[in-house]
Amino acid sequence: MQKIVIAIDGYSGTGKSSTAKQVATRLGYTYIDSGAMYRAVTYFFLQNGIDFSDVNQVNANLDQCSITFDGSSILLNGENVDHQIRTMEVNQYVSKVSAISEVRHKLVEQQRKMGEKKGVVMDGRDIGTVVFPKAELKVFMTADMEVRAERRRKELVKKGMNEDLEVIKANLKERDRIDSTRADSPLRKADDAKEIDTSHLTLNQQIDKIVEMAESIIYEG
Ligand code: C5P
Repeated sequence: MQKIVIAIDGYSGTGKSSTAKQVATRLGYTYIDSGAMYRAVTYFFLQNGIDFSDVNQVNANLDQCSITFDGSSILLNGENVDHQIRTMEVNQYVSKVSAISEVRHKLVEQQRKMGEKKGVVMDGRDIGTVVFPKAELKVFMTADMEVRAERRRKELVKKGMNEDLEVIKANLKERDRIDSTRADSPLRKADDAKEIDTSHLTLNQQIDKIVEMAESIIYEG
């Protein structure tokens, strides 16, 4: 049976990560959260007081930053940072750090290596356009802003962080703006991606749709 690469892109709060993770489990594939990698670099820069606008500082510090996965957990220089990368502070800066070409270059190279043997589901912003332009299945997820903000709020509450809905909405809009307008690998739907609007879908419906699409490629070619 052939193994494929599944690229899931879209805006924050559209359910990409939760969907991608379950799709991978159902297919017996590896799930890779590329956003967590950008978040880990951002967290490292913030911890170390790096000036993002100084390319020399960025380059020198990128070399100090080893990002690996241990199952579904993300490790920064061997330390589990699952929780630290989901704060509002990281939310606030992650799109700025992600717009830096040197950062993207390093992470994209690592992401491509992780997908070399196929059998992966990777979610992000540029997976179908830049990281795996030849992915056998590309999905682009969207949802209404109200729905996205409410999902993000619930996610934060689960992690013990209470945040005002308007603040969350403003952050999502600002990240959409930076992600879609940056010069290097802007967020956009690949021409051959299938678009799914998740505003009125349950998580299980989203998962079923993508697994169905994947199986039709895996079994029927
Ligand atoms: O997916 P998540 O919302 O955790 O991603 C956080 C941020 O990382 C995004 O807003 C975007 O700026 C950046 N990102 C990116 N390219 C990816 C994945 C995430 O630029 N492939």
